[in-house]
Amino acid sequence: EPFITFKNVTKTYRMGEVDIHALSGVNFCVEKGEFAIVVGPSGAGKSTILNVLGGMDSCDGGTITVDGNLISDYNRKQLTAYRRSDIGFVFQFYNLVQNLTALENVELASEICKNPLDAAKTLDMVGLSERKGNFPAQLSGGEQQRVAIARALAKNPKLLLCDEPTGALDYQTGKTILKLLQDTCKETGMTVIVITHNQAITGMADRVIEVKNGLVSSMHINEHPVPVQ
Ligand code: ADP
Ligand code: ADP
Repeated sequence: EPFITFKNVTKTYRMGEVDIHALSGVNFCVEKGEFAIVVGPSGAGKSTILNVLGGMDSCDGGTITVDGNLISDYNRKQLTAYRRSDIGFVFQFYNLVQNLTALENVELASEICKNPLDAAKTLDMVGLSERKGNFPAQLSGGEQQRVAIARALAKNPKLLLCDEPTGALDYQTGKTILKLLQDTCKETGMTVIVITHNQAITGMADRVIEVKNGLVSSMHINEHPVPVQ
């Protein structure tokens, strides 16, 4: 069985009198160690996929498995443990704690999980050991995102979920962040999923999952992923 499976996953939001079908029967899989990109226009359902996969929200129907576990059947307590130990999160706007240093931000993440990596070592992995004593406001956008990636890696997660990780960065910096995520995936064997509306970066993924109107409209494998252009 693949590392991640979505089978007929549905999610509906009730807005007053109106039902909004965010996911209308989503099917896809991702193999262990893949660098996968979920791409689609705004409103397609990408964040909803990330939320149900990351255990932040539950789906209404269908099944989701991660590493052989049926997470769509997890209760709240199980989901909290899953979010804390199994998943690393990277966000568009970094979500760093402003009054903690880079190193302290990374240490914070390792405190809540079961098998943390050494915080200083993960800052080294992202090339930021020299900046460990700096506060977020003293770092560039790209550096802040690298701290956020180090924080996610410090949890030693099975799965890294990245929501528009380059959305707040200039083009060149965005490229180095994507390259870092791709290299981390290959070097650690960790499964990485990036959510984006940016079609231009799909060539670098091992697997591309296109989402439209709450459905997967196509899925393809790149036998020879290319670096970001
Ligand atoms: P994307 O991330 O691709 O932009 P989303 O998953 O955020 O798409 O949204 C899919 C659909 O679900 C959209 O129509 C959006 O308005 C709706 N939606 C998402 N979250 C909520 C929510 N909490 N309440 C109501 N509707 C929502
Ligand atoms: P609790 O609220 O039970 O203390 P949290 O959900 O705050 O647990 O934290 C568990 C993990 O889930 C943390 O690593 C955190 O980064 C992540 N997390 C929590 N909420 C979200 C969210 N909305 N989106 C992405 N990740 C989240």
